[in-house]
Amino acid sequence: MSSSTLPAVQASRINWVRSTVIIGVHLAAISAFFIRPTLKDLILGLVFYILTGLGVTMGFHRLLAHRSFQCPTWFKRFLVIFGTASLQGGPIWWVGVHRRHHQACDTASDPHSPIRGFLFSHFGWMLKEGTSNERINARDLFSDRVIGWLDRGINPLVPWAVTGVVCFAIGGWSAVVWGTLVRTVLLWHATWAVNSVCHVSGARPHDTNERSGNVWWVALTTFGEGWHNNHHAHPQAAIHNERWWEFDPSAILLKIFERLGIVWDARRSRA
Ligand SMILES: [Zn+2]
Ligand SMILES: [Zn+2]
Repeated sequence: MSSSTLPAVQASRINWVRSTVIIGVHLAAISAFFIRPTLKDLILGLVFYILTGLGVTMGFHRLLAHRSFQCPTWFKRFLVIFGTASLQGGPIWWVGVHRRHHQACDTASDPHSPIRGFLFSHFGWMLKEGTSNERINARDLFSDRVIGWLDRGINPLVPWAVTGVVCFAIGGWSAVVWGTLVRTVLLWHATWAVNSVCHVSGARPHDTNERSGNVWWVALTTFGEGWHNNHHAHPQAAIHNERWWEFDPSAILLKIFERLGIVWDARRSRA
């Protein structure tokens, strides 16, 4: 589908579910200013930040959205369950939105381009209804019943809630605040920066026909996704770094999993 045939985003009505979740978790995370974390709380936050962050980058993005590598079904579901625990929506919705971003990048049909404002691209777009057909772009994912279940209704909340229960069982309420709420908000803003910061700034080694840029600090906080101009130039590549100093932890892990035989056919860019 060309970008010209895509409908413009219908963003006039509020999406109450997403708005309540995004604002509610931010407000609840403010409690962190009054609760001193234990070492255990911080370790839980770091571990879940890494697991859910890799679930988004390796699972939602590089595997589901771009099919940039192959792996066994159990490993795909493992990544997607942790990706869903990032509380960034169901995997099919996420992938549908992201594929549309690539199809119509920085046009009126892009779900989250900063041409409509920086804050709109960062999170404002999610507070409103998009088009009703985001999932059409990700129909291929419905065949996996676990992914289909994770995407249905309020089920995307379930893996996230489980991480909250695990934190509570290990460290009580302070672990919930730091291990679940704070790490969710931090990973949200890191991921959202790929859509906002990386489309208004950064180096552009590739002359792509949109505004994507490589931003090193976004790459650091998103396990390599900040090399976003490289990614737009070679969307099918599993490895996003193209220069030795471009740190892409997801690519390093994929290469290790390749050696172990868990991952194969990881696509490389032509660069
Ligand atoms: Zn982009
Ligand atoms: Zn992408």
